[in-house]
Amino acid sequence: MRCPFCSFQDTKVIDSRLVTEGDQVRRRRECIECGERFTTFEGAELVMPRVIKGDGTRQPFDDSKLKAGILRAVEKRPVSVENVEKSIISIQSQLRALGEREVSAQVIGELVMNALKELDQVAFVRFASVYRRFQDVSDFRDEIERLSQDELLSQEKT
Ligand SMILES: [Zn+2]
Repeated sequence: MRCPFCSFQDTKVIDSRLVTEGDQVRRRRECIECGERFTTFEGAELVMPRVIKGDGTRQPFDDSKLKAGILRAVEKRPVSVENVEKSIISIQSQLRALGEREVSAQVIGELVMNALKELDQVAFVRFASVYRRFQDVSDFRDEIERLSQDELLSQEKT
């Protein structure tokens, strides 16, 4: 890491510890050129793999997209936001545990399905039926919305 004082290219780590339940690493660094010391907080986001989309393009991992997709699937279901957030954290740590630089959107979709299966059966079925057609988390949202509307329409008819 570059020194923020003199811009020298190399600094050494003199202390390193996990903070906030292991999500971040706090590092105390010292510049080997000017001797200044500084602290960095290095987040786990830095090592999230990139996502390989169905068409082969790569995107940075986006947890807000993931959250939006899951929230859409559990809409009007008895699932707390807290449990949704726990699922997202779990999915992220499973992705990091793969140790890959890039993962396919399909792998993420499978992890989301596993998480939803535990959260709520209806949400799981909603998500799974859309997932099998799209194979991409980011496309789920609109389709799931459409699906919910179809459900409402069919209920009105009966
Ligand atoms: Zn320096």
